[in-house]
Amino acid sequence: MTAPRIPGRRLLHSPGPTPIPDAVLHAMAQQPMDLADPRVDATIAACEGGLKRLLHTREADVFMYAANGHGGWEAVIENVAAVGETVLVCGTGHFSESWAVQSEALGREVVRTPWREGCPVDLQALEEALRADRAHTIRAVFVVHTDTASSVTTDLAPIRPLLDRLGHPALFVADVVASVAACPFDFDALGVDVAIGASQKGLMCPPGLSFTAVNARALAHAKDIKAPRFYWDWARRKSALSYMKFCGTPPMNLLFGMEAALGLLFAEGLPAVWERHALVAGAVHAAVEGWKEGGALDFLAVDPATRSVSVTTITVRPDTDIEALRTVARERFQVAIAGGLGPMSGRAFRIGHLGDCNVAMILGAIAGVEAALRTQGIPVGQGGVQRAVEALARAT
Ligand SMILES: *Cc1c(COP(=O)(O)O)cnc(C)c1O
Repeated sequence: MTAPRIPGRRLLHSPGPTPIPDAVLHAMAQQPMDLADPRVDATIAACEGGLKRLLHTREADVFMYAANGHGGWEAVIENVAAVGETVLVCGTGHFSESWAVQSEALGREVVRTPWREGCPVDLQALEEALRADRAHTIRAVFVVHTDTASSVTTDLAPIRPLLDRLGHPALFVADVVASVAACPFDFDALGVDVAIGASQKGLMCPPGLSFTAVNARALAHAKDIKAPRFYWDWARRKSALSYMKFCGTPPMNLLFGMEAALGLLFAEGLPAVWERHALVAGAVHAAVEGWKEGGALDFLAVDPATRSVSVTTITVRPDTDIEALRTVARERFQVAIAGGLGPMSGRAFRIGHLGDCNVAMILGAIAGVEAALRTQGIPVGQGGVQRAVEALARAT
């Protein structure tokens, strides 16, 4: 049985996939090309150049994969440590833990810093773990910039100075899947060695394309790693030939979409894109401040300064049926929201607000979520939507 068509537009407020602009959909709706067609090379060059500009790097190489974000993670794991070698994963929530579990499944040893619920990376614990590693066995430090499950953004600025102060040679690897094109990220200035992104969040594309940006230091490091690899191998992909860049046929239609999406971001201007994300996120935060007064809901992020501009995780009372709430929100009020993940499963829901989102969309989403909360008998106080409207009126 197929579900009936919903008239009008349904609002997609999962933190990935996110809505895709029509211009991106249209760019993808064309025939693939033969591999020698110079248009394919031009599109790949535009994507590589655009991603470098977006990440603010002059020096890094960009390697793209026909894979989701987990493919990007796998590429990193296979290139930065051999089986039996160690990586350090900074605890930020479900996404850091998933990356750690994937590393272990691939035979790597993992040192974890603890996740403190609702908090960013514990820098003290990171320093202690690095100090304890006198033999420098840790090959890389993995940090998730915005953990999409906890909706907390970690300030990445202290990490390179910490590694340098301790004289620790580990690579600094940042997962920017949920933050890139939503808030500033400066690969070169932050001293990042490797960054990982994916298409379906701030980049406004369908799922299925991920990328790693890799500086010269990380490329040299990877060459010395004694891990057998082929598809994910950075060295193999460093080529002028498009067939080598993708270890086979480039995923052309995804690349046409990515080229168009990057064009939209640069036409809007990155500072304007970041400002728009902050504005929209501010409306959601204002609404949650109102809903909190009902006594049943709260932010997961402890410190307001760490709340991400991409997604907001809202905790609920233990007896709340979140899947029922999501179904009512989606089917009755046409707003698709996300559930809690990992340790927050059944304890929180999430409103995504990244990518191709504007103030009208977020007001619709907030009102729809509030309506769904009321329908489910969850106390939300009086002023959620009102506060969102006021926050936007004040800001614009
Ligand atoms: C979504 C996400 C991933 C995983 O991406 P998939 O495309 O779902 O495999 C990894 N890291 C972060 C921070 C994410 O938000």
